[in-house]
Amino acid sequence: MYKDSYNIETKCLQAGYQPKNGEPRVLPIAQSTTFKYESSNEMGDLFDLKSEGYFYTRLQNPTNDAVAAKLTALEGGVAGMLTSSGQAANFLAIFNIACAGDHIVSSAAIYGGTFNLLDVTMRRMGIDVTFVSPNSTREELQAAFKPNTKLVFGETVSNPSLNVLDIELFADVAHKNGVPLIVDNTFPTPINCRPFEFGCDIVTHSTTKYLEGHATTIGGAIIDSGNFDWERYPEKFSCLTTPDESYHGVTYTKAFGKGAYITKATVQLMRDLGVIPSPFNCFLLDRGMDTLHVRMERHCDNALKIAKYLESNKNVSWVNYPMLPSSKDYELALKYMPKGCCGVVSFGVKGGREAATRFMDSLQLAAVVTHVADARTCVLHPASTTHRQLSDKQLEECGVTPDLIRLSVGIENADDIIEDIENALSESQK
Ligand code: PLP
Repeated sequence: MYKDSYNIETKCLQAGYQPKNGEPRVLPIAQSTTFKYESSNEMGDLFDLKSEGYFYTRLQNPTNDAVAAKLTALEGGVAGMLTSSGQAANFLAIFNIACAGDHIVSSAAIYGGTFNLLDVTMRRMGIDVTFVSPNSTREELQAAFKPNTKLVFGETVSNPSLNVLDIELFADVAHKNGVPLIVDNTFPTPINCRPFEFGCDIVTHSTTKYLEGHATTIGGAIIDSGNFDWERYPEKFSCLTTPDESYHGVTYTKAFGKGAYITKATVQLMRDLGVIPSPFNCFLLDRGMDTLHVRMERHCDNALKIAKYLESNKNVSWVNYPMLPSSKDYELALKYMPKGCCGVVSFGVKGGREAATRFMDSLQLAAVVTHVADARTCVLHPASTTHRQLSDKQLEECGVTPDLIRLSVGIENADDIIEDIENALSESQK
């Protein structure tokens, strides 16, 4: 019998799907768009949310739900849902409580795709955003709020700048202003950081990264702690506290209590936008999460070993890894992620853009890909790929220096990775 009190390592394998007598041991893939009923009335009750059951996979599917339940258990939340990508997760998480005419506050140190989503696409939809430094003081953060602010957003450890968010500070200021804090917890995963324990209200993920872990499947997730009291601010969150005429006049907070936020995101936004992952992709995500605790430990051990090695290499001009005592975020990292933060390390190759390009071309083990947080070591030189259209001056302005290498340390033997890096660094100087 499954126990909620199990440690997180046990939950990685045992939470979510629990087979009954005679059922398959491994999570079955319900690869079916639809579900059969004996009568129209039974199906009508499902549509009216009067009874529980499956009817169409865009809204709910047993495989997807079991995997969402596992991730919800890992984060310590009350309800969760999976989406077709991390981009979709962040979009739904925000759009669920902010719409045209509203304003949000976001840390500026977030993944470029999310920055663009907030700064371009959501602005086009009429949602205003103020970006703040991830190192904001309480006063600087407070100054960003407006009467129509609906939420605060940030990344636990930002991609690619590796800034550590002061979750307690951001949550406290958000709550004093009557709004929730949403945190993208992709890089540390719940193995290394559980933001709800520090006051965060809603967590999102790009499950594409460590959670699935093997670079096979794009996906995302939203998990609700159930702690934010929407009814305390009925006017601000009227989308949850007043009847939704588009869904049989249901009032989400009244009908679903702590499940209100995720129910609304499912029956309203997923219904209308349809960013659902396939049951097969959810199955792959579940396989990944089975070993998450073991992989994260190895990613972090390897990354720290390699970060220390890089600090000692004469061909490296700087190293950024929050678990290094030299990191400006070392204290925050120890507070929020005492077991380790993630496998991503960034560093500068002496000699700038040309030397960094030679370094990339000389690697044998580390794969050059636009991906991070994979079991296999992979590496990216933003200045010659994702940011190649920018001049050196423009690169400096957006914090991506021409010499910056983003190394995603895998779970191979660290000595083999170091040997590969050492050779490539020597070649970079020729
Ligand atoms: N959030 C973070 C922190 C990311 O690093 C990424 C992608 O790199 C995303 C969200 C977007 O996720 P996806 O690529 O799964 O859409």
